[in-house]
Amino acid sequence: AAVVVGIDGPSGTGKSSTSRAVAAKLGLRYLDTGAQYRAITWWMLANGIDVDDAAAVAQAAGKPVIVSGTDPSAPTITVDGEDAAGPIRTQRVTAAVSAVSAVPEVRTRLTELQRAIAAEAPHGIVVEGRDIGTTVLPDADLKVFLTASPEARAARRNGELKGKEAADLAATQAALIKRDAADSGRKTSPLAKAADAVEVDTTDLTLEQVIECVVTLVED
Ligand code: C5P
Repeated sequence: AAVVVGIDGPSGTGKSSTSRAVAAKLGLRYLDTGAQYRAITWWMLANGIDVDDAAAVAQAAGKPVIVSGTDPSAPTITVDGEDAAGPIRTQRVTAAVSAVSAVPEVRTRLTELQRAIAAEAPHGIVVEGRDIGTTVLPDADLKVFLTASPEARAARRNGELKGKEAADLAATQAALIKRDAADSGRKTSPLAKAADAVEVDTTDLTLEQVIECVVTLVED
């Protein structure tokens, strides 16, 4: 039978690196749902839609065609056939994504897409996000909730930012805390740990240790 794993948690906890590596090790597909929320946000910005106007975002939510490639060794994302992997990581998109993600029409659309992708995965899939265990895949075989101290999360996030986008630690930490508060505070499927999720605090663990821990949880 197919194995379905949901990995949730705030940013900077190592969700993406962990999810990809676990999927690759176990021969499963991999889906980054944050990339999909970023992709829809990028499309809104590119099309001149005011991301703080929830009605305008809701009305446009069904327009962009988002396609996710789920090979864990080379995940891809396109919007209307265009490669979106680079532009979805810019600060502009990061700053706008929480507002777009709070719009129920956006969530309904992406949740349906995520469930369809999971249902099609031949041997199973690792899906990472904020609401996978609570909302998208409540019947997942394993739910993991990753946490880490705000300092550790900011340090990891800062390490990922390149060149002139690399801010000072304090600024990165402030931006992370703001985004997590928005993601946790929204009304529709907020960032939350499912009651039956296993919480893993990654603050003092290496990436390899976190991967090993999740692989063991899947195999048990
Ligand atoms: O994981 P990542 O940082 O790329 O996610 C970007 C944003 O997408 C989050 O801050 C959140 O606003 C949104 N998101 C969400 N639900 C998910 C995944 C991401 O609302 N399942």
